[in-house]
Amino acid sequence: MSRKQAFQFLDLPRTMPQRIPVELRTSGDWGELYGKFGKEDAQFQAGRCLDCGNPYCSWKCPVHNAIPQWLQLVQENRIHEAATLCHSTNPLPEVCGRVCPQDRLCEGSCTLEEFGAVTIGAVEKYIVDTALATGWRPDMTAVEPTGKRVAVIGAGPAGLACADQLAHAGIQAVVYDRYEQIGGLLQFGIPSFKLDKAVISRRRNVLEGMGVQFRLGVEIGRDVSVDQLLAEYDAVFVGTGAYRYTDGGLLGQDLKGVLPALPFLVQNSRIVGGSDAHGRPIAGWEDQIALPDLDGKRVVVLGGGDTGMDCVRSAVRLGAAKVTCAYRRDEASMPGSAREVANAREEGVRFLFNRQPLSIEAGADDEVIGVMVVETQLGAPDASGRRNAVPVEGSESLLEADVVIIAFGFSPSTPAWLIERGVEAGHNGRIIAGGQGRLPFQTAHPRLFAGGDAVRGADLVVTAVAEGRDAAASIAQLLSA
Ligand code: FAD
Ligand code: SF4
Repeated sequence: MSRKQAFQFLDLPRTMPQRIPVELRTSGDWGELYGKFGKEDAQFQAGRCLDCGNPYCSWKCPVHNAIPQWLQLVQENRIHEAATLCHSTNPLPEVCGRVCPQDRLCEGSCTLEEFGAVTIGAVEKYIVDTALATGWRPDMTAVEPTGKRVAVIGAGPAGLACADQLAHAGIQAVVYDRYEQIGGLLQFGIPSFKLDKAVISRRRNVLEGMGVQFRLGVEIGRDVSVDQLLAEYDAVFVGTGAYRYTDGGLLGQDLKGVLPALPFLVQNSRIVGGSDAHGRPIAGWEDQIALPDLDGKRVVVLGGGDTGMDCVRSAVRLGAAKVTCAYRRDEASMPGSAREVANAREEGVRFLFNRQPLSIEAGADDEVIGVMVVETQLGAPDASGRRNAVPVEGSESLLEADVVIIAFGFSPSTPAWLIERGVEAGHNGRIIAGGQGRLPFQTAHPRLFAGGDAVRGADLVVTAVAEGRDAAASIAQLLSA
């Protein structure tokens, strides 16, 4: 590498694609925040890669993308080859390019981080959007059908990644989901300002073009039993996600004006109104909320993860007058992506750190008037290594609010119909998969595999993709034996 090339990153700063102006966002624009790189911008950004020989970015990426290699192909404008390389490790690269918390993953480990990391996510999105728009499709010509069939329960990232890899292995994948649309939380959890829903429809076309079949509006355990699937298919993959809501047990959480985060986001997505294809309430969603009008209201969101960030930014777009996020630890401990926190701040969201909610308070008419919080200091680390938030005595105060949204997170819950088939449930409702004497992602039932949030607990799109992909490899191994 010449000296000129080695230091070009100093002349070419890191840039992100243009964003929708903040005035539009705060006046109700739900469009995807970041635009797209043009060819020149993508080539400039790709050209900042040092090809440093030890690509920490690839190691930190949960699917281990060949990042320096596809950045090189972008510089050479070989976009279809770059798309093929992206798909060799990641069945949903255009989605991950949009929603991964890159600051904690690939970009956070870029050698150039100090000077401004290479914009890996935005280039990944550029490659795949450009390739698909110009006719690139996965090459299935060398795939030999095996005659095997696998049912996939759940059309979230884990299930879609599994189906994609099964198709590449010549195995017929049939994906079942209780919703009418594919995508799982991509479709009805993550708001459109982070992920345009047209991206998911386009991916559905790609998967159907590869031979993947969808049976939507079908809930396993209610409309079809797992026994029926085991009788009809050679194996079954379970990617049912994590939907057990953590409510925090706060006094006053049942008051009118207190909303759980996910139904709030689902209602906003205006795609699924909490009922399935037959108009029946979706299991676990019977307590659908009526969305209050947030126009001119003071909204407090409790929780500092991705879900919390999506709630505050949705509230801004719904016209709330004042939006506050209260989090019990300090800013550095926030689980949400730093980029999303910065975007929320720009949209006028106020962050209050080191505030632990104690109760939700009501006025005379039982309407919410605010959240009683206590200030905290960080104490000793807990079992997970995170420092505990210790309340400071006498520091209680009322955080005024008309609407409170609870975004403390989710955990999985192993369905009874799996337990009846011998599948073990582990800590916090997770499905136990893999381990001694089993293939990776194989449960205690040899023909039932599982992955994604249902196994790991609520995590990330890219980790669910990685597990769905790797579970497909185990299934292919079992079926070829
Ligand atoms: P899911 O996406 O939950 O999909 C599971 C699917 O299984 C669903 O479609 C469900 O309908 C279906 N299903 C369940 N039970 C049945 C049944 N019995 N029969 C038929 N179908 C069934 N991650 C990021 O990386 N970046 C982000 O910005 C981000 N933002 C998020 C924002 C919110 C609000 C939330 C809640 C999560 C966010 N995440 C984010 C996390 C990410 O969305 C999840 O980790 C990921 O979607 C998990 O994928 P999955 O396939 O395991 O499960
Ligand atoms: Fe980065 Fe996510 Fe793409 Fe991996 S999949 S390179 S972590 S944006």
